[in-house]
Amino acid sequence: MKTIKVSLKYPLNSITTPLVSTLVKRFNVEVNILHANISLNKIGTLIADITGEEKDIDAALDFIVKQDGIRYKIFSNKLIWQEEDCVHCGACTAVCPSNALTMNRETWCLEFSKEKCLVCGLCTKACPLNVMSLQA
Ligand code: SF4
Ligand code: SF4
Repeated sequence: MKTIKVSLKYPLNSITTPLVSTLVKRFNVEVNILHANISLNKIGTLIADITGEEKDIDAALDFIVKQDGIRYKIFSNKLIWQEEDCVHCGACTAVCPSNALTMNRETWCLEFSKEKCLVCGLCTKACPLNVMSLQA
């Protein structure tokens, strides 16, 4: 079993395609949606973790590219937090779109949830000490 993080881009006319349910039913993969911005008459994006056997994930990705105009990108980067250099100022939490970065209200220390991270890189620009970075 493995998990990949993908970003899907839906063109204007593909919003009604029942893609996620088809992937789950037909290819025996789990799809954990992390972020979705999809509405009528707009280009939509969806970021998700896909978990399953390698051959099932490959078949699911093949299926996605055969859909009308839907495209995917696999995130190969991961976010590295140099925790020992962090001063827990909280600036990065203001830009994180998925709440992967939060302040613990008791300790006032930064907490990072790897599972929720979209690898968008916004926190790397917001951190005044450059303790967040993306690595391949
Ligand atoms: S890269 Fe940073 S800002 Fe983006 S989701 Fe992950 S933790 Fe949040
Ligand atoms: S912005 Fe940088 S220093 Fe401030 S809490 Fe986030 S990682 Fe730590």
